Amino acid sequence: MTGTLLTLGDHWMHSFTTEMVRYLFGAAGVALVYWLLRRWTAPRRIQQRAATLADRRRELWLSVQTIAIFGVVDLIAFALIAYGVVKIAHGFDPAVVAIQFVAMVIFHDAYFYWMHRGLHLRMMFRRAHAAHHLSRTPTSWAAYAFAPIESVFEALYVPIFLLGLSLFGAVYPLAIFIFLGHQIARNAIGHSGHELAWSGFTRSPLTGWLTTTTHHDLHHSEGRYNFGLYFSWWDRMMGTEHPRYHERFEAVAGRKAIEGDTVPA
Ligand SMILES: [Zn+2]
Ligand SMILES: [Zn+2]
Repeated sequence: MTGTLLTLGDHWMHSFTTEMVRYLFGAAGVALVYWLLRRWTAPRRIQQRAATLADRRRELWLSVQTIAIFGVVDLIAFALIAYGVVKIAHGFDPAVVAIQFVAMVIFHDAYFYWMHRGLHLRMMFRRAHAAHHLSRTPTSWAAYAFAPIESVFEALYVPIFLLGLSLFGAVYPLAIFIFLGHQIARNAIGHSGHELAWSGFTRSPLTGWLTTTTHHDLHHSEGRYNFGLYFSWWDRMMGTEHPRYHERFEAVAGRKAIEGDTVPA
């Protein structure tokens, strides 16, 4: 019994540490790169209002709590693997790793969209999702700024996906690792408050199916539209895309740094 508790404790600690490193890489990495490139990024700030230090502190603290909860939910995946329900693949098959990664992203996008719609229901919003929406002007630190209930829903995706995938075969840890890296990168950029995509991005058949930072920023500033995560197709299919999304995107994407302009540090 003590041994089991120690194993669970070890596993939680491992999850907490690795997820914390991933979050810091994403949130601090985006903040640092945008600051270093501020000549280029500053004119592309989406909102007039700038996030304050208090905003960032709150986002960081909520994210640390979320990461602690992620560690607990991760124990489900750990148990599924320990009891042999989910089998781990050995060796390296690039085609299967790629397929598993792509499937994980596509299903996560669908899971997130519908979970997010659920979190916006009147009975859920205040308890489960209002904490995330305290960030009216989000920064990359808001990537994991969730209330505890939302943290559980967010984290449940991994064990649910693993369980589904186990019906078809063994899981490649590398596919999960790439998925988590992609997730934090898109998440930190999506909350960064600066639009770096180019004019025409949202309307082009080549890129319009991807969400932009303006897409999620509008969700934070107005709340009623743009529930999607990686792709714009669920919002378009369900009629929840912001009616002025393209217009608002173009207003930011069209801005350029003017030679000799002073850029705030
Ligand atoms: Zn929301
Ligand atoms: Zn958000």
